[in-house]
Amino acid sequence: MACCIFCRLIADPEFKALYRDDDVVAFADLNPQAPVHFLVVPRNHVETIAELDDEYLLGRILAAAHTGARDPGISEGGERLVCNQGPHAGPTSHHVHLHARAGRQRA
Ligand code: 5GP
Ligand code: ZN
Repeated sequence: MACCIFCRLIADPEFKALYRDDDVVAFADLNPQAPVHFLVVPRNHVETIAELDDEYLLGRILAAAHTGARDPGISEGGERLVCNQGPHAGPTSHHVHLHARAGRQRA
């Protein structure tokens, strides 16, 4: 989807992924809210979890976020995983994404 920031980002030849496989991509958040803050997205443009309609892929997203936040030095404190979707959550990107934040006590 040409107008989606995340689709454009992950298609960019200069794009630096933290993790990627056939299903998902993880990358550092541009505006981190914690010492470790990255996003995990499905490679294909999907706007909501309901639209994703794929429990395997949903599991892959969760596993990538959890595994990424388990890097040495981070795992001791755990991680916060957040998915903003729909008008009440007010996401700024409409490509399904899971935030993984770690590295400090939640305020
Ligand atoms: P939302 O509020 O939609 O759940 O969060 C979207 C996140 O995407 C924000 O934390 C924002 O910093 C991040 N973001 C927006 N544009 C870009 C971008 O071009 N590159 C990266 N790496 N992150 C972005
Ligand atoms: Zn997209």
